[in-house]
Amino acid sequence: MSSLFNAPVSQVYSWEPSNTWIAARHGVDPASILRFDLNTSTTTPAHLAEVLARTSWDPPIHESPDSLYGELAEAAAGYVGADRYEILVGAGMDDVLDIVAKTFLPPGGRAIVPIPTYSMYGVLTSQRNATIDAVPRRPAAEGFALDVDAIVDRLPGADVVWLCTPNNPTASAESPAAIRRILDAAAALGARGPLVVVDEAYHEFTGDTFVGERAAYPNLVVTRTMSKAFALAGARVGYAIACRPTIERLERNRPPGSVTTISAALAAHALREPAYALETAASIPAERDRFGAALTAAGWATYPSVTNFILARIGTPEVAEAATLALLRKGIVARTFGPAHPLRGHLRFTVRSRADNERLVAAATAFTEEAGR
Ligand code: PMP
Repeated sequence: MSSLFNAPVSQVYSWEPSNTWIAARHGVDPASILRFDLNTSTTTPAHLAEVLARTSWDPPIHESPDSLYGELAEAAAGYVGADRYEILVGAGMDDVLDIVAKTFLPPGGRAIVPIPTYSMYGVLTSQRNATIDAVPRRPAAEGFALDVDAIVDRLPGADVVWLCTPNNPTASAESPAAIRRILDAAAALGARGPLVVVDEAYHEFTGDTFVGERAAYPNLVVTRTMSKAFALAGARVGYAIACRPTIERLERNRPPGSVTTISAALAAHALREPAYALETAASIPAERDRFGAALTAAGWATYPSVTNFILARIGTPEVAEAATLALLRKGIVARTFGPAHPLRGHLRFTVRSRADNERLVAAATAFTEEAGR
């Protein structure tokens, strides 16, 4: 078996290489690798083991899942305070976003993408043969805020607006007033107005939400994931919340069985007992702010974050590349931004345990001291 069997292949969207590949390429012990690139939880919730054991027989694994995912949809509805028929479930939020694109973004259509933001919006738009209408955000000094005037100007004739709050990868929250202005302007265009997606993947870290606006704005779809605060990224479960007619349109493009029985049971259990996820989320800010300050002191200036990850300015794209390599040689994986990305020269880091974060800070300090010599 080749040790490179997980080598990155050319594809439109992927994340950083696997531990196996990094270990082989950089000569590090795979067990020592720390992933700062995925924005996922760093521990597996222990109490879910019991659910895993039970799901091998109830419902039986040899049966297909309930194609309506009643238990999961009800658990999600209970968690967000919506009706079960205002929920669409999918195999991770990426699957949900794909269903949204299939439903509302026709070939030749146009989607507004405030950049930088989550890369999948552009990927899904291209996959639909629709046009990416990239609207740059305000500069870092203005908190990467949405350029609301520019977005509102471009709403007529657009099919979808992809919004993300808190925004990945800037780690900043969008202003609720800005999102409401976009929703109002889109609603004012009537049936010809675009669908507005509000991606709340990192909702649990702030508590802010637009779920309560779904009745007022039939063109609003809020999306959530079990991958972040709920620590179930490997289970692949996400869901959307919208008014019932909008969910009914989305349901027509939903595959009947994309979420496994095991994942559906795990996610339903987690949503019914969300305390651990909310406690984990609540524990993040203290360590995040300490970690951010330490990175800044080490010479990698960090931006304010309201999430479980931090964006840092490293320097020129070449310096950021050298830093990435220096970290990889120490078994530390950062989220990188390619030469065409508006955040080239930056790296993004997940907030991990204090000890893990200290390993990164030490590596950053060694790198900047070496560079300054
Ligand atoms: N939206 C955002 C903003 C994300 O950061 C991510 C995960 N990287 C997703 C959606 C996709 O989440 P999932 O794992 O549920 O597909």
